[in-house]
Amino acid sequence: MRFSSTYIPTLKESPSEAEVVSHKLLLRAGMVRKLTSGVYIYLPLGLKALENVQRVVREEMDAAGFSELLMPMVIPGDLWKETGRWEYYGKELLRFKDRNDRDYCLGPTHEEVITDLVRGEVRSYRQLPVRLYQIQTKFRDEIRPRFGLMRGREFVMKDAYSFDSSDAGADESYKLMYDAYCRIFKRLGLRFRAVEADTGSIGGNFSHEFMVLADTGEDTIAACTECSYAANVERAEVVWNGTPCTETCAPYEKVATPAAHTVEEVSAMLKVAPSQVVKTMLFVVDGKTVAVLVRGDREVNDIKLKNLLNATTVELAPAAVVEKVTAAPLGFAGPVGLDVPIYADLELQGATDYVVGANAADAHLVHVDLRRDVKVTAYADLRCITLSDPCPRCGGAIELPKGIEVGHIFKLGTKYSDAMHAVYLDENGKENVMIMGCYGIGISRVVASAIEQNHDEHGIIFPPTVAPVECILLNLDPGKEEVRAKAEEIYAMLCKAGVTVLLDDREERPGVKFKDADLIGAPMQLVLGGKGLSRGVLECKDRRTGEKGELPVDALETALPQWMEGVRKAWGTLGIYTTHFNDGKLAA
Ligand code: ATP
Ligand code: MG
Repeated sequence: MRFSSTYIPTLKESPSEAEVVSHKLLLRAGMVRKLTSGVYIYLPLGLKALENVQRVVREEMDAAGFSELLMPMVIPGDLWKETGRWEYYGKELLRFKDRNDRDYCLGPTHEEVITDLVRGEVRSYRQLPVRLYQIQTKFRDEIRPRFGLMRGREFVMKDAYSFDSSDAGADESYKLMYDAYCRIFKRLGLRFRAVEADTGSIGGNFSHEFMVLADTGEDTIAACTECSYAANVERAEVVWNGTPCTETCAPYEKVATPAAHTVEEVSAMLKVAPSQVVKTMLFVVDGKTVAVLVRGDREVNDIKLKNLLNATTVELAPAAVVEKVTAAPLGFAGPVGLDVPIYADLELQGATDYVVGANAADAHLVHVDLRRDVKVTAYADLRCITLSDPCPRCGGAIELPKGIEVGHIFKLGTKYSDAMHAVYLDENGKENVMIMGCYGIGISRVVASAIEQNHDEHGIIFPPTVAPVECILLNLDPGKEEVRAKAEEIYAMLCKAGVTVLLDDREERPGVKFKDADLIGAPMQLVLGGKGLSRGVLECKDRRTGEKGELPVDALETALPQWMEGVRKAWGTLGIYTTHFNDGKLAA
């Protein structure tokens, strides 16, 4: 590729619309442009990066024995009605009608389509397993599309599906994907971690998210510093090792707490530690109101509540509901006398003499004993893990790094095959339901994550496998014939060797070229100018380390590939997250 004839509209200024660094840099480096909210155009360099990720994913999916197909983006609504997701999926599903008034949607994921395909093809256990994947554009009408490619409405996903005749077979399909994902993200040069993820109503430990570690990640990971345990905080178990309290306390009393709404305000006013204040949070769970109690210094984990109650929807109760149920303004809810089911976090059993809201304006109750004064429906693990909690596996210390979810693997069991009657005949001619798995990678999100993880104040630092071009060759003196000829010679040599290279042959000042080279983020930079050439050297720079060197022009055939191999190798070792990487075992 030549800079002069490739469309690379780099920008000097950071566009104000972009909040995160990957979005800013993708715009500035001339890789994407926004068409409308959450919908992007991939310009030539952006498209190359996207294709590079696709290539690695495709190679590893093929190697794992999955076959590629391509399903339509437009899906008949009837299939989604069969599984109940037409209603359940909510507003992320973009629904529309054709001229005959039939329902359709744009595919946000393809379980229905693939299950429909496979149920129509497979009759016998001998035809199983079926393992398929596609790389395709998805549409989800996200409530808050943001951060550029990170959370788009239209985005590129690799989605794979497996159909097995036995549980052991389904586990094998899952393991194939787990291992393939590890290889994919390693090859892409990303520092990542596989973490246990919430499985919702399906249960079991068969879901992992693959997280690229980056401070701007929307997810938080609970990772043990001593063993391989890592889980999304949504799921991370909190172990309570305390002993149930047996003492009681003085009878409770109502005290005035004017305008003290928050735990901090109440604990300051009453001079008690936040851990002695009980937070009462009201939720609407599948339409019914419930109360959740946690210590004042803790946060409720609504996903744990959802799983505990086996619910479909959990929402924080709106103000009107809180005021009705507690007969008090917001900020004074308490469990004493409350007429809804009350779920309390495990550790609340460890003490007595709590401060709680009084269900009355500007008042709290002190000296509350939960066993004596409150009708607790059940105690359960209902809070988010913190840095002071132990690892649920080994008791070690927990850290809470941020991550970007780039992949998700899920053992679905028979959720979709049951609903859509995807069955096969076993050895005895008996009908059985197929056991499914689904496996996604956000291809376009991977490109953005690679940038979130690898950049500096000058621009992108692409891993060699993701980079639109591995190498950029700057000709600083395009007007000088001997320099031009040498640059062309080196360019031809690199192309012949299969290196993707961008020759900056523009009539621009060197400063402009250096700036653009850093911005675009090719991992290797080569600089040729009249001065260097007269000394017989080609300058080289490793974009990641900033390390510069000189290669002898008359021995480039050997010196150049050697230097390039060194740069690639160093990247190769970065992708492996060594300290406490989850080693590929399925969680017990
Ligand atoms: P999230 O929690 O980020 O919304 P999800 O659980 O909805 O993700 P999946 O349905 O598992 O995601 O989709 C598979 C993969 O597709 C995700 O791991 C992610 O990498 C990618 N992905 C999901 N939603 C988007 C989006 N709006 N934009 C870009 N990539 C996405
Ligand atoms: Mg989502």
